[in-house]
Amino acid sequence: MQEKEAIATVPSGLFIGGRWTPAARTMPVEDPSTGEVLCEVADADPAEAMTALDAAAAAQPAWAATPPRERSEILTRAHGLLVEETERLALIMTLEMGKPLAESRGEIAYAAEFFRWFAEEAVRIDGGYMTAPAGGSRFLVSRQPVGPSILITPWNFPMAMGTRKIGPAIAAGCTSVIKPAAQTPLSTLALADILVRAGLPDGVVNVVTTSRSGDAMTPLILDPRSRKLSFTGSTPVGKHLLEQAAQTVMRTSMELGGNAPFLVFDDADLDAAVDGAMQAKMRNIGQACTAANRILVHRPLAEEFADRLARRMGELAMGRGVEDGVVVGPLVNQGAVDKVDELVTDAVGRGARARIGGDPADRPGYFYPATVLTDVPADAEISRTEIFGPVAAITAFDTEDEAVTMANDTPFGLISYVYTRDLTRALRVSEALEAGMVGLNQGVISNPAAPFGGIKESGLGREGGLTGIDEFLETKYVGISMKG
Ligand code: NAP
Repeated sequence: MQEKEAIATVPSGLFIGGRWTPAARTMPVEDPSTGEVLCEVADADPAEAMTALDAAAAAQPAWAATPPRERSEILTRAHGLLVEETERLALIMTLEMGKPLAESRGEIAYAAEFFRWFAEEAVRIDGGYMTAPAGGSRFLVSRQPVGPSILITPWNFPMAMGTRKIGPAIAAGCTSVIKPAAQTPLSTLALADILVRAGLPDGVVNVVTTSRSGDAMTPLILDPRSRKLSFTGSTPVGKHLLEQAAQTVMRTSMELGGNAPFLVFDDADLDAAVDGAMQAKMRNIGQACTAANRILVHRPLAEEFADRLARRMGELAMGRGVEDGVVVGPLVNQGAVDKVDELVTDAVGRGARARIGGDPADRPGYFYPATVLTDVPADAEISRTEIFGPVAAITAFDTEDEAVTMANDTPFGLISYVYTRDLTRALRVSEALEAGMVGLNQGVISNPAAPFGGIKESGLGREGGLTGIDEFLETKYVGISMKG
């Protein structure tokens, strides 16, 4: 399919109450690999956004009463359509956010799996019945949908972050309003079209696209009809939204930023560690909350590891994500390039050495080349901030204790990676790391069947896995008298 043809398949309106509705204003969607406008989509104002919550609230009672098997089958059909239409959807994703086509195909597969997983979970929502410890009365425990949910997603995984929230909401019997990032609205709009074709009833999922995210969404978050806020994005915005959610004591799930340490011990399989670092660093051109941000290597291995990583990173082709063989696509916008450039300049100014790269690319679009820095000091800004770009920052350590202390020296706690062949060390270090997830000799661990989430300032709650659906369910206890 041609680029223009793929873009033309995406509806451009607000999706509210099962209808595609134009907004008074539109906003452009840009291709970050060229800086050119791909198309225009609806740009909702606060009043238009509120109609989406009206639709979600109106649809909630009937949706909560829909048999779990029906909810499950809708998700199963949507999973099938996502898989069948992978090529079209991957092209749309690459055009709106820049990642290479092969990675976009991978994200569509990952996104579809959330629907399959939650289709399986929809029919397994459990409850309980037990005798009170003192005898006499009985406890009946059941689970009910939380209610209308506000789902806010980032630009870096525009399809998977959507299905990771919409999947459990549908499975649990919650209606929702989803707001994708203004940078990447097309994947979510294409997903809504798929859900319609999968048979989703009107009003169950509503989509608001807007360039004024705070103005448009604040009234919805403060509205007492909204009972759940599920957010994926940066920690500062997450903190702001938590304050808003506190006004109505709304349930929240927060998938926020990271600053992942990637630990390589002297007993590691070096080939596997370099492969893992390539994956953990370069997935999504480094623009992932799970990206290896600080690569900490045992000093005896540090030089060889840096040489090998620099060689591999130096071989990566840079270009538009639609071109064959490209691995280093564009960053999302000029601001992202400027931020990476500032971080690298600061690190080099403090004594880091650039093995490869180190300067923005001189070409149209928002490109920064693969870069490897060694001898990165702990006080460099790059060690404290999410890089969100293709820059590997390597620091050497001398002892296991030092490595763990360095790894935990951050307010974030999403994921850590550990490479070692010593089982005892692997378990000891995994336990000591302050993170919601650990990749043990593995550079990518995201899986819809596993609980994804962070501790500390990386977030609250878990998405996917056996507990993912709990985020959209309330527990109700009925105490039963057995007298009379
Ligand atoms: P962001 O700036 O926090 O934006 C995330 C979403 O929030 C976007 O849809 C954004 O819309 C919206 N938003 C911003 N301000 C808002 C407000 N006041 N009210 C309501 N919505 C608001 O983050 P980003 O730059 O898109 O994404 C990158 C961040 O996400 C990184 O920190 C990354 O680590 C994190 N992330 C975390 C996970 C995880 O699972 N832990 C996964 C992926 C990404 P607009 O962009 O249109 O303003």
